[in-house]
Amino acid sequence: MSTLLERARACMPGGVSSPVRAFGSVEGEPPFVVRGAGPFVYDDAGREHVDLVGSWGPLILGHAHPAVVEAVARAARDGLTFGATCAAEVELAERILARFPGHDMLRFVSSGTEAVMSAVRLARGATGRERVLKFEGCYHGHSDGLLVQAGSGLMTIGDGARPSSAGVPDAVARLTDVLPLDNEQALRRYFETRGDELAAVLIEPLPANAGLLVQRPAFLALLRELSRAHGALLICDEVISGFRIAPGGATERFGLEPDIVTLGKIVGGGMPVGAYLASADLMRHVAPLGPVYQAGTLSGNPLAMAAGLATLAELERPDAYARLERLGAHLERGLADALAASDVAGSVVRVGSILWLALQPGEAPRTSACIDPAAARVYGRLHPHALARGLWLAPSAYEVAFVSLAHDEAVLDRALAAFAGALAEVRG
Ligand code: PMP
Repeated sequence: MSTLLERARACMPGGVSSPVRAFGSVEGEPPFVVRGAGPFVYDDAGREHVDLVGSWGPLILGHAHPAVVEAVARAARDGLTFGATCAAEVELAERILARFPGHDMLRFVSSGTEAVMSAVRLARGATGRERVLKFEGCYHGHSDGLLVQAGSGLMTIGDGARPSSAGVPDAVARLTDVLPLDNEQALRRYFETRGDELAAVLIEPLPANAGLLVQRPAFLALLRELSRAHGALLICDEVISGFRIAPGGATERFGLEPDIVTLGKIVGGGMPVGAYLASADLMRHVAPLGPVYQAGTLSGNPLAMAAGLATLAELERPDAYARLERLGAHLERGLADALAASDVAGSVVRVGSILWLALQPGEAPRTSACIDPAAARVYGRLHPHALARGLWLAPSAYEVAFVSLAHDEAVLDRALAAFAGALAEVRG
């Protein structure tokens, strides 16, 4: 164990500022990253790794993109934060809203967690209702009311939901109901019973926090139909999918009509940013226009806005999303071929530049309950071998991989060679 790792573990729980970074579910110790450049990260032993984590999603341009670094440096020279609206804030808001028709206004916050938490408050304030519905396997940040998953009787209306973290009061958890994804019957039954009590339904339209659970269009359409019919607001949490699978995220790509969209990650270009977007009619409820209070000392600060603006400008280049698609397809093919040539069962699930290794036989899962726990054990054994060969994968079987515009086919081939080598070790 390195001295730095010991020091980290002595002064921070697990040695980390966010739990999954601790490598708890994979073998081996977490290296320290000292530098990132394009598609690579470099650890403190001087080793170069092909990065498929991308800081968990924001780095769609890769590490330290010159345009982003320059924009942040330029902004920093004029001051780090003013606690007053800056021009870059207006420009970024306009640029984001242009991609989400029907959403007239937004509010910037400093994380995805804050964006979704505030969106729920807005939904409750606007509807005068308290109950919310989420789906098993969807992550919406760590605010109390959303850190909830169903108990074993999750299909049974009235069972309520249990907190999935200590410290979440039952009284709060009881306001959040949880249903399985991909189950139209459970959805219909739920709305018949509870639909009229619902302030909001939250979904990751492309669930990417328990593997990549691609939903059937009919399920998403039914969710829209039922929520509208019962006066519940539909919140599409696009913290991962926004500007990732299309400029207008899953909303654009799947033709959805959410009432509120939440964003994070890419819109901050690697700086801490989140945002929630809605119609002017809804956003009128937000302070200072209305009674739904929500604020932030560093919200909309000029550095974060500059990073977001520079990132979105690069993404507006004509070829950007076609290139992400091409690179994603290249990686998907290579991973699938490597799996087929090994005796590790599995398939690759991909939407654009988001990929997930489903290390289990059969059809790719659409619900978190269909994910075989044995897959996590295989992944946990595979991970250190990939790392030793210079492939930086998320240290959890349930996390997805991200390709950036800084990757190219040759770099991905290096990643694929490392992956094949790691698979051979697992077989051995
Ligand atoms: N929503 C989704 C869909 C997410 O994936 C995440 C984080 N991975 C969040 C919300 C929370 O964002 P943050 O970590 O920035 O608080």
